[in-house]
Amino acid sequence: MKARFLGGGDEVGRLGMVLSTDRYKFLFDYGMNPTKPPTFPMLAPKVDGVFVTHSHLDHVGMLPWLNKNGGANVYATPPTLSVVPILLYDSVKIANLEGNSLPFEEFDVDSIIETFTPLNYGETMEFKDQDITSHSTGHLVGSAMYRVQNESSIVFTGDIQSIDTHLTFGIKPISTDVLVVESTYAGKEHPPRPSVEENFLSSIQKVVEGDGVAVVPSFAIGRSQELLMVLENTDYEIWIDGMGRTVSNVLLSFPKYIKNYQRYKKMLRRVRFVRSKSDREKALNGDVILTTSGMLDGGPVLNYISNLNDQKNGLFLTGYQVEDTNGRMLLETGSINLAGVTTKVNMDVKFFDFSAHSGHKELVEFIEGSKPDKVVLMHGEKREELAKDLTSPKIVLPKNGEEFEI
Ligand SMILES: [Zn+2]
Ligand SMILES: [Zn+2]
Repeated sequence: MKARFLGGGDEVGRLGMVLSTDRYKFLFDYGMNPTKPPTFPMLAPKVDGVFVTHSHLDHVGMLPWLNKNGGANVYATPPTLSVVPILLYDSVKIANLEGNSLPFEEFDVDSIIETFTPLNYGETMEFKDQDITSHSTGHLVGSAMYRVQNESSIVFTGDIQSIDTHLTFGIKPISTDVLVVESTYAGKEHPPRPSVEENFLSSIQKVVEGDGVAVVPSFAIGRSQELLMVLENTDYEIWIDGMGRTVSNVLLSFPKYIKNYQRYKKMLRRVRFVRSKSDREKALNGDVILTTSGMLDGGPVLNYISNLNDQKNGLFLTGYQVEDTNGRMLLETGSINLAGVTTKVNMDVKFFDFSAHSGHKELVEFIEGSKPDKVVLMHGEKREELAKDLTSPKIVLPKNGEEFEI
């Protein structure tokens, strides 16, 4: 078998890997980078099936283009397949608004969705002469890795999370001959989650006691729902705005995929949803506002910052801030770009590491526990740092576009 990364091999983002046997070609993930302007992976060959690990744009954003290339069946878990269309239509909308062109149109989104085929955790699908099984990766509700088995086995992980969170169980090692694994946090560790949660809650408490509002920019998929659960045992007036609101409701249809489902459901009943302009006004007088975008590059969060730009209010970032985003600019300079004007942010700005990725030590543990003969490191910028801590006899660090034996 041979493999080739169309993107996301030696970088974090726009992931796509083609796996070729003598007779068939499979594609694992096909994403884009939602930068301004967006960037895309290389074009895929015609494939026999596409396996999607989870619904983040850097893993799915390019799927509609496949419709221009003869189409392909797309497999993923039911929660992933329910969230992906929301994201794809939104990216078409944003591209139109910002005047950026995408390599596909809205009707390609319509068509690719028609090919979506569910594959639940633990289910094995006979695909051509391979058995393909889906397993949880703990990164998001419904995120999956795939084990491809014939004479030997290959696992493709997508993004992985080792710790248990409020909504998901951490990933477990999986025995395999070849392991293709992400390495986003190679060389970096996360602070322990309980202390992050404690600091987050006490920072919110301080703001609320000072009669302020805590604005919490959070990614729509995964982060917003997790933060809701972190706030479970508080009695704050919590508002949720932007795409996180839609996604939170969609996930309610998948009780089997959500750890603490009843508690999640109860939490969604108590939180307030921003559905109109007047709700947005009311939210300004609440205690906590969870809203997109997580990197301050658009969405309702900018409106909240304009209205609450005062030191008694908090602005609590909860995810990694990519280069060239407003969020990164805020952390580095204390200002953001608001409708073309560089604006100093006077709110109490803090960053909390609620990452959904395994840290360095956890990556090593997962990889060693899977006992692979060969490890392929992808989706990382410091893969060498991870490679030097592994005992596996063969470690491959492929570059985008380069074909390698698997
Ligand atoms: Zn992800
Ligand atoms: Zn990713």
